[in-house]
Amino acid sequence: MRSVIYPGSFDPVTNGHLDVIQRAANLFDKVIVAVAENQEKQPLFTLTERQEMVSQAIEGMPNVVAEGFSGLLVNYVEARSGDAIIRGLRALSDFEFEFQLALMNRRLNERVETIFMMPKDTYTFLSARIVKEIARFGGEIQAFVPPHVQTALYEKFRNQ
Ligand code: ADP
Repeated sequence: MRSVIYPGSFDPVTNGHLDVIQRAANLFDKVIVAVAENQEKQPLFTLTERQEMVSQAIEGMPNVVAEGFSGLLVNYVEARSGDAIIRGLRALSDFEFEFQLALMNRRLNERVETIFMMPKDTYTFLSARIVKEIARFGGEIQAFVPPHVQTALYEKFRNQ
């Protein structure tokens, strides 16, 4: 039984994330989407909101679960008996940070491998940050996020 952890802020989950999740789910027995509390980033959505949006988006994927986590990722991976960490790579700009993160995680725990997955090419320009910017000004985001996330985004900005 091979399980992998896909960590991130998922603020909110996008079709790019979901593309990576689906690819990982095709390769591994179990995928745990680990929604990071991430106090440093000051997320738009609370941890519970982000986790619920992921949970709803993965309803049709039987071997995928979503969980919230805080603290060191390598410790979480150990606690959940994960075999590897999955990260998405969109462009060269992701590479430097992801490379640093992967090597640091390996330094912290030799046993933890990081696997990079590329999304479908149409999602390579997609980021949660850009989707939030578009939604903030009432722009069209239908192609970038699932319907329930679209509703949650418009709702959030309406109330701000
Ligand atoms: P973080 O807060 O760790 O930057 P994100 O929630 O933004 O994380 O993303 C989690 C992971 O998903 C990261 O590895 C990121 O590179 C990847 N990712 C984000 N958007 C996309 C996308 N459109 N296609 C593929 N991977 C993506």
